[in-house]
Amino acid sequence: MDHLAHGHPRTTPADGHPATEEGHPVIRVLEGIREEVADLAGGVVADYIPELAHADPEAFGIAVVSPHGRAYAVGETDRPFTIQSISKPFVYALAVEERGLDDVHAHVGAEPSGEPFNAISLDERGRPENPMINAGAIVTTSLVGPGERGVRFEHLRSVLSAFAGRELVVDEAVYRSEAETGHRNRALGYLSLAGGVLVGPVEAAVQDYFRQCALSVTVVDLAVMAATLAVGGVNPLTGERVVSQRTARHTLSIMSSCGMYDRAGEWGLRVGIPAKSGVSGGILASAPGAFGVGVFSPPLDEAGNSVRGVAALGRLSDDYDLHMLRTPAEPPSPVHSVTRSGDTLDVRLRGEIDFLAAEQVVSRLAETIDDTRVRTVTVELERVSGFSDAARALLAAELHELAEAGVDATVRDPRGVRGA
Ligand code: GLU
Repeated sequence: MDHLAHGHPRTTPADGHPATEEGHPVIRVLEGIREEVADLAGGVVADYIPELAHADPEAFGIAVVSPHGRAYAVGETDRPFTIQSISKPFVYALAVEERGLDDVHAHVGAEPSGEPFNAISLDERGRPENPMINAGAIVTTSLVGPGERGVRFEHLRSVLSAFAGRELVVDEAVYRSEAETGHRNRALGYLSLAGGVLVGPVEAAVQDYFRQCALSVTVVDLAVMAATLAVGGVNPLTGERVVSQRTARHTLSIMSSCGMYDRAGEWGLRVGIPAKSGVSGGILASAPGAFGVGVFSPPLDEAGNSVRGVAALGRLSDDYDLHMLRTPAEPPSPVHSVTRSGDTLDVRLRGEIDFLAAEQVVSRLAETIDDTRVRTVTVELERVSGFSDAARALLAAELHELAEAGVDATVRDPRGVRGA
């Protein structure tokens, strides 16, 4: 794996050292954002978990990890804080991976609740509205196996660690503080048990939930975790597949509709990066196919989102075009070259062939049916990195059409990217 940005030798967050050198252009961008946003006043540090009230309101850090595993960080990049609600998408991912989407959603909904994170928000079937509010997250934790307490938590911890690319540990003081005071969460657990959706016992689920919320992370950890989802479930630093591509997509979907407490609509409009925030002041944002971002600054707005975190991500999305619904100027062409010699047409493809790319390819191949000068077609896949199922089906159908029309078509696939 390439951990080197050109001309800038660096180590990786797995070693605890993302790039921070001042001259690097990406660092300059992040520094600019940090400086601009650092003066933003307002917001209140959460104190309903007593231990969280000790957080330094001035602490502020931003980290970004590329799909190739290059990491950049500015500000307080090593300061640990508890992950809190940002653990929820990852436990959701694990539950989906283990039980499948339908089974998980028989227990928890997928609708934004429009209510605060700790609301008593159950739908007409007795399910919490979504897995990003506390009630839904406690249910999701209860769905992860194996059920026994210590065993389940260790399983959760090891999977979140795989997302982060290093072993995460519990901040025991924050855990105890929440375990002693988190009666509202216990109540949510009992309501979900009464609704028939929590896999009991409640205290076991709630304890594991408190522990998962008390895992200690840095902004760099958040950025690596976000990047792992952004690239479809493979940690770009360690190369480990943590969840399937489909599970990563489901998780990003839930984050984009329900990840920012009661501000999902506003967030989608102005920032448009699937994200999850937590009461300790962290925000994790995962731009699909692109970057993972982590931001930390404890003062929260009325919705419970980090004031500076929201502002920093808004700037990042706007200035660097990371909104997930941006439209590309032109769709990338999968055709590398087309050459004809005699009655043979040689079509070379490149890159990732998805449905959109395959539609361009088969349209080009279809033209040869009417072109009487062409009797033989070769499709060369040497530069192709992958084929989606839909693309494979489309190409197979077109090859069939060509054969029917008397055009002799062969596919050269020296690396076997087209699969079976
Ligand atoms: N552990 C916190 C709670 O359950 C997490 C809340 C949050 O970050 O939104 O209250």
